[in-house]
Amino acid sequence: MAKAWHLVRRPNGMPVAEDFALRDLPARDLAEGEVRIANRWLSVDPYMRGRMNDVKSYVPPFALDAPMDGGAVGEVIESRAADLPVGTRVQHMAGWRDEAIVPAKGVQKLPEGDIPDQAYLGALGLTGMTAWFGLLAVADAKPGETVFVSAAAGAVGSSVVQIAKARGMTVIGSAGGAEKTEWVRSIGADHVIDYKGNVPLVKALGAAAPDGIDVYFDNVGGDHLDAALAHARQGARFAICGMIDGYNASEPTKLRYLMRVIAARIRMQGFIVSDFMGRIGEFHQGMGEIVAGGNFQREETVVEGLEHTLDAFLGLFSGRNKGKMLVKL
Ligand code: NDP
Repeated sequence: MAKAWHLVRRPNGMPVAEDFALRDLPARDLAEGEVRIANRWLSVDPYMRGRMNDVKSYVPPFALDAPMDGGAVGEVIESRAADLPVGTRVQHMAGWRDEAIVPAKGVQKLPEGDIPDQAYLGALGLTGMTAWFGLLAVADAKPGETVFVSAAAGAVGSSVVQIAKARGMTVIGSAGGAEKTEWVRSIGADHVIDYKGNVPLVKALGAAAPDGIDVYFDNVGGDHLDAALAHARQGARFAICGMIDGYNASEPTKLRYLMRVIAARIRMQGFIVSDFMGRIGEFHQGMGEIVAGGNFQREETVVEGLEHTLDAFLGLFSGRNKGKMLVKL
């Protein structure tokens, strides 16, 4: 019997196990144009926390007592769609379950080649695209500039570090703990701040960037955003990608340095990766060149088993992952 995770209660603050249930999916035959997919890899992502709240946003909230969804890759095991025969490797959005029934139009075939399928849930998929367009289009980062990126050991952040280095920028990353900071250095960052260390972030960033930063790629918000405001150079650009520090918070973020936006003429712009779907070819070309050049390290943290999907998701908020957090089925 196929199983799927369901949201059964809207979390208050950090989600807990009682907010979710792993339930059987009712069995049914395929309709014309549908395929049955055995999922092999599931993506868990911080944005899913926002979908657990009953608020209007750029993606609809998860419905209560319904199967949750999210990025997944798998293999067609039954087909009533002529162009998706059994055995086709595909990507789709019916994740959080082991088996999915999806209309053919909701499925993308994965390319043939040596790249492992799960890479399309990470650096070669929306994660990499978020890093690419956030850095190069939203922040308009240029060779020679100094870029600060938070959650630099995470999926998006580690891609930002490597794209920025490939484009000749000076990179300052921040991550939690010695092992992660060491790893961020190993993928090319010029300076790495351990934000869980003893030095306050504003001071640590000042030491790493004595002349200030030109670009801030924000994955975290909160104190990280405040430190970036404190050290922004004239005309700095901030790509506001995510604010994970606030996703489970009950109190609003306080920014002591917000007024620097005025005097330093800072441009802050939020974005959603889907804004750039029309330019996906630029990403494939540019990222393809970086990967082919052998200078890109694709890191994954893999949790095994559908029953551990929730642990993987919650692990994003305690920094359990290095690179992309994935569930292997
Ligand atoms: P990550 O792989 O970066 O995982 C989350 C990481 O965030 C953790 O490993 C942890 O690393 C860090 N973190 C968690 N809580 C905190 C905190 N309170 N303060 C500082 N760091 C914290 O996830 P993604 O790469 O998938 O996503 C990164 C950000 O980008 C998220 O905010 C996400 O919502 C956003 N995003 C936005 C998109 C868009 O279209 N705008 C698309 C995709 C992602 P550590 O151990 O270093 O603390």
